[in-house]
Amino acid sequence: VEEVQDVISPPLPSVEPLHSHGRWGDTSSYAAKKKHQSWFQLPNGNWELGNILSTSGAESIVSLSDGKVCSETNPDILDGVDDLMQLSYLNEPSVLYNLQYRYNQNLIYTKAGPVLVAINPFKKVPLYGNDYIEAYRRKSIDNPHVYAITDTAIREMIRDEVNQSIIISGESGAGKTETAKIAMQYLAALGGGSGIEYEILKTNPILEAFGNAKTSRNDNSSRFGKLIEIHFSETGKISGARIQTFLLEKSRVVQCAEGERSYHIFYQLCAGAPRALRDKLNLKSANEYNYLRQSNCFQIDGVDDGDQFHVVMEALDIVHVSKENRESVFAMLAAVLWLGNVSFNVVDNENHVEPVEDECNNLAKAFLVVMYPLPYIFRKPGLISTAKLIGCDIVDLKLALSTRKMRVRNDNIVQKLTLSQAIDARDALAKSIYACLFDWLVEQINKSLAVGKRRTGRSISILDIYGFESFDRNSFEQFCINYANERLQQHFNRHLFKLEQEEYIQDGIDWTKVDFEDNQDCLNLFEKKPLGLLSLLDEESTFPNGTDLTFANKLKQHLNSNSSFRGEKDKAFTVGHYAGEVTYDTTGFLEKNRDLLHLDSIELLSSCTCHLPKIFAFNMLAQSEKTVVGPSHKSGGADSQKLSVATKFKSQLFQLMQRLENTTPHFIRCIKPNSFQSPGIYEQGLVLQQLRCCGVLEVVRISRSGFPTRMSHQKFARRYGFLLLDNLASQDPLSVSVAILHQFDILPEMYQVGYTKLFFRTGQIGVLEDTRNRT
Ligand code: ATP
Ligand code: MG
Repeated sequence: VEEVQDVISPPLPSVEPLHSHGRWGDTSSYAAKKKHQSWFQLPNGNWELGNILSTSGAESIVSLSDGKVCSETNPDILDGVDDLMQLSYLNEPSVLYNLQYRYNQNLIYTKAGPVLVAINPFKKVPLYGNDYIEAYRRKSIDNPHVYAITDTAIREMIRDEVNQSIIISGESGAGKTETAKIAMQYLAALGGGSGIEYEILKTNPILEAFGNAKTSRNDNSSRFGKLIEIHFSETGKISGARIQTFLLEKSRVVQCAEGERSYHIFYQLCAGAPRALRDKLNLKSANEYNYLRQSNCFQIDGVDDGDQFHVVMEALDIVHVSKENRESVFAMLAAVLWLGNVSFNVVDNENHVEPVEDECNNLAKAFLVVMYPLPYIFRKPGLISTAKLIGCDIVDLKLALSTRKMRVRNDNIVQKLTLSQAIDARDALAKSIYACLFDWLVEQINKSLAVGKRRTGRSISILDIYGFESFDRNSFEQFCINYANERLQQHFNRHLFKLEQEEYIQDGIDWTKVDFEDNQDCLNLFEKKPLGLLSLLDEESTFPNGTDLTFANKLKQHLNSNSSFRGEKDKAFTVGHYAGEVTYDTTGFLEKNRDLLHLDSIELLSSCTCHLPKIFAFNMLAQSEKTVVGPSHKSGGADSQKLSVATKFKSQLFQLMQRLENTTPHFIRCIKPNSFQSPGIYEQGLVLQQLRCCGVLEVVRISRSGFPTRMSHQKFARRYGFLLLDNLASQDPLSVSVAILHQFDILPEMYQVGYTKLFFRTGQIGVLEDTRNRT
């Protein structure tokens, strides 16, 4: 044993084996086992299966190419089990290996008790389509699958008359959106008939065009959260749907990192618009627009933006967005692009600016290109095009972009903007137009999908929302996203806990409370009034003199006693989330939270002759609550009063949670197996980290405190009855089962006998399996 201790490599901090809680007293079986393989943790944190050279007591010496260690493995029959709860020895390497074993055989779905784990194959896998849908409907296949989960949801909706939800989470690129589409496909196939299902499916290409973009992590990354509620009639047919979106990343419209893209629709429009539309919008190719060219990325491998444009056009038609409305949408998009090309000239020695207004006729242009090729290429005036597209006076546009009306005491004064202020005003306008357009479009779709008067109230909701995020640098976006994930995690915990309890009670077994990790402390940290992260953020956002630094200092002053909070140096703070600690940098928090548009810009948008006032008014109406941020008119500013982003998000989230509380949830956790978006590569460390973040290991842990292994009396008697020394073949399954338990000295605290099933603590079945295999 000493020798073994010598060679145990210290576990890396990032990989803490699940079995550190002890082995449930079944270690004595190790010596007797004919085990020849065991898990070994490599210095890089990965686990590898090694050969056992010798076994001594509970420990084994394992040979690998570069080291030795001991750990435990599962009995062979449990290789690749389709429910992780069946693993006799629940530990991280076993879970990881089991998933990998299945993944290598294209078995991308595995259950973890009530949760479906889906590992992104990054390639076409032969698991979908009508034949599979039919097989799952008839229940002739019982492998874990999105179809199976969706089928359960439909059945439970009908049987219990309770609304259902399918909650999909996972990090960027893990496959949430694809999974949501697969679930929708199944719903459409089973609940279709009226034709509305076809419309519902067509919302996907539209929302992806306007809300998805290529990022460094996913070529088709959703930059918004989405809940789609699909309604059913009494006969189980789809009668309509409603979509709700959350927190669109609008900064992407004006700024995106090298190698990433803005929203797909811009590139699709530039590549696919027919001649007449191009002329009407004065449309150029994508690389002529500053907003699109700044990241130096125009194409996505394997995607033809021009073709996609036609797919989106057709989809818009199918969801009844009229030709007129479609053209307005494209005009707004083009306006955003041209706005990005508006540049400014400094006009005085205080760095005040005016927009460049020099779009010229073709002759002058030809002249300019010849005479001043470089300046012309870099200066792409967009003022005239923008004004034309949004239908405003060019003078008004110029003023909105370069001045700000202020009220000082009782006088109205006009202040000129500096270069950076003007750029901010321009970008704020572009972001605002795009975000309003997005919301308006979703509302148009909702009108088309609206459930008629004869609604039954039965529905299945699918939630496709960003998972927990932790980067090197975390900002306001991660703050909101991770807050949402805390709420969802609480929902998840409560539900699983309840489920466990129900099953025990149903089968009449002794139920002693199992405790599970509660994240209420962390939620309090966010939500407490007046001293919580969100309240303090809003408060600071309303102070004219508030800055990110004063905000960070206030947090440190008021929240240090909360165990989930830690102040960091400078402007940073750390939150202990259920999925791990995240340090947030408060730079930009206040501005992002205020998200203000100058009154000048608002007036401009309201005065346009295009569709914008309608779109914009719709959006302002949506902001109907009282909490407002931004300097009030009295204190000199002239900004609009509106809800803070955090407050709006929080109220959306509460609504969402309320809605979900009234449904039976079904959880799908998507896992990204590698960071290359490539098939066939399974990075253990990456998978492990996600299993932890999305709570899969937590479910496993919760179940370890209970009786995770279940087997009916019949199955148990059939499987192990032949090991009995006394012949009890004629007896009933329960008596045979009890006799087996006695013969193998399974300790009373290690199992429970229910009405229909036997319930075991983790690891108990392994002993029986080993004996069975030896016999
Ligand atoms: P984000 O948070 O960035 O929106 P996501 O979790 O929604 O990410 P998806 O866009 O659904 O991720 O998936 C990323 C890519 O992975 C898809 O474009 C597709 O290529 C591939 N993929 C995901 N699921 C599957 C699947 N079941 N079969 C084949 N390919 C898949
Ligand atoms: Mg997505």
